[in-house]
Amino acid sequence: MTATGLDSTHRSDDGRAAPPCLPVSAPASPDATPAALAHEAARLATLRDLRLLDTPQSEAFDRITRMASRLFGAPIAAISLTDGDRQWFKSHLGTAGRELPRHQAPCATVTDTSDLLVVEDLLTHPGFFDSPLALAGIRFYAGAPLRTRDGYTLGAMCVLDHTPRTATADEMAALHDFAALVMSQIELQHDFGRIDVMSGLPNRHELLDIVADMQRAPDNAVRVILLIDALDPQRMQEIVNALGSAYLDAFVRATSRIVKDLLTARTGLYHVGPTSYAILLDEEADGPWRDLADRLSPALTGSLMCSGIPIATNTVMGVSFFKSYDPISPAEVLRIAVSAADSARAAGVAQAIYNPANDAANRRRFALLTDFSLALADPAQLRLVYQPRVALDTGQCVSVEALLRWEHPLLGNVPPGEFIPLLEQTSLARPLTEWVATSALRQWAIWRNRGLVLRVSINVSARNLEEPDFAQRLLRQCQEMHISPNAIELEFTEGALISNVDNVREQLSDLKAIGCEIAIDDFGSGYSNFAYLQTLPATTVKLDQSFIQDMDGDPRKQQLARSMIAIAHDLDLRVVAEGVETEHSLHYLRACGCDEVQGYFICRPIEAAAFPGWLARHEAGNRLAQNGVAGAF
Ligand code: C2E
Ligand code: CA
Ligand code: CA
Repeated sequence: MTATGLDSTHRSDDGRAAPPCLPVSAPASPDATPAALAHEAARLATLRDLRLLDTPQSEAFDRITRMASRLFGAPIAAISLTDGDRQWFKSHLGTAGRELPRHQAPCATVTDTSDLLVVEDLLTHPGFFDSPLALAGIRFYAGAPLRTRDGYTLGAMCVLDHTPRTATADEMAALHDFAALVMSQIELQHDFGRIDVMSGLPNRHELLDIVADMQRAPDNAVRVILLIDALDPQRMQEIVNALGSAYLDAFVRATSRIVKDLLTARTGLYHVGPTSYAILLDEEADGPWRDLADRLSPALTGSLMCSGIPIATNTVMGVSFFKSYDPISPAEVLRIAVSAADSARAAGVAQAIYNPANDAANRRRFALLTDFSLALADPAQLRLVYQPRVALDTGQCVSVEALLRWEHPLLGNVPPGEFIPLLEQTSLARPLTEWVATSALRQWAIWRNRGLVLRVSINVSARNLEEPDFAQRLLRQCQEMHISPNAIELEFTEGALISNVDNVREQLSDLKAIGCEIAIDDFGSGYSNFAYLQTLPATTVKLDQSFIQDMDGDPRKQQLARSMIAIAHDLDLRVVAEGVETEHSLHYLRACGCDEVQGYFICRPIEAAAFPGWLARHEAGNRLAQNGVAGAF
């Protein structure tokens, strides 16, 4: 019988620091010194911080275990971590279970001594002859310590055999190297971009690796990702703008702490987005996800105190499921949970499970948002079309409205009603309007050079009014292109104006002062607040097409249009009716004193190149009409 640590020539020096204190006996033993007990407590804390215990098997470690087994020609090999009272196998080959009692385990001796250990025959060793391993028929054991950079031994890289045998010095040197390889893997995984510094939680990369490992586990268990999104992106941006990013950090620390406190120590919690967390649940062990969601919801809803300032959270949760050998990738599993949370937010509910229809819509929205930046730089994708506006008293075309068109390379023509409201919620509203203004002014200059004199109308988003330099930039652009701001009309919706009360008056006054016309678009579709309108420096209202389009045969809509025209005139505003589709409605509007009309009856939005031809035909027709020969005017 021999039970040896090999001599020092076999303990190749790996340059690691010596342990702060090397216990000589098992720390749980009654004769353990206070220093040994303290060392063991620190060692266990290190082990737990590495979050290795009770995680799934992983190919990165299994590969090393296989190599060790092959090298020794031994059927059993394991990466065995020494927990408080058990040896737990991060990787194992040739054994059925994943743990053994720590007591009488040779690996525990390796941990306690931080030294190589060879037991040629367990049955003849006084410490191991009646150990669980020996009783299970194991005879040979060789182990090398798994030592951290800080000098703590976490366990052993070991090989075992059913027959007694010896280990050569070369074999033991290789086992020692395998142990070092395991430790590099452990420390690399732990260090390398896997922990979020703000929350101290493992991050998205770590989650994706764990999910991949779980998908390889042959247990067929259904697992759940519960995604918690504590703030919508717009609110997050507002908080950063108003209070600074340090405040957001405080918010992350507060919310992650709340979630952590409501979970058991062994439930996986990951920080996967700026203000979002993923919980990895095994429902059999952790209980149904809905129970957990119901516990989390009240804690994460309502006002949350951060650095002494209350913040209204708007938490939503999304759920996705996966199991062993699922064909979907870990990133897709997480994306589905995020998509479900987005759907919950869009639907105004607290929780949602993955729904393919919502997912497709989210993906399309996401594609539109990400692809628009490319479109801005690609002349083949974006263009303006123009819809003429005609004065009812003279029949002349006085202006055109510039309307954006997007020909997406894969999705085809995307309606502006779909992509513009999306972009308006983001900072892309600025380059969007800038692109439209530049293109429209350039086109205006081309027409002017051909002798066409008219105004061009540009649609402006609510977000543009939040840009403090919006008016100044527009003026500079006009100056650079030698265009008078009189040539431009800017169209704002009522909603844009009302949601930006503080910024609006100043910006509009600046714009009006430089000579732009200001139109209130879609009037009558929303608030229709005449009292508010009176306080704005607007020059024009555009009556919403929803009640102009089908006013024929609808006395209520006709009366509404008549009243609105009268009130707007009373406020000294010019009135444009949009959506004029019939000659009948055109005559009615003229009888009501409406100033201008725009709509399919006059002309659909047309390409810039087609406009001069249309205008020539329109003017010819108009001359005849004015002379009482024919035509609507
Ligand atoms: P909008 O500003 O109210 O523009 C008028 C919309 O009504 C245009 O739709 C136009 O094609 C349509 N229209 C005009 N006359 C008639 C008619 O007689 N009947 C019917 N059924 N429809 C008519 P479009 O081009 O699809 O634009 C939809 C909306 O997208 C616009 O509504 C505007 O809110 C937004 N939009 C379009 N271009 C831009 C842009 O360059 N910037 C911004 N911020 N928004 C834009
Ligand atoms: Ca408009
Ligand atoms: Ca409109």
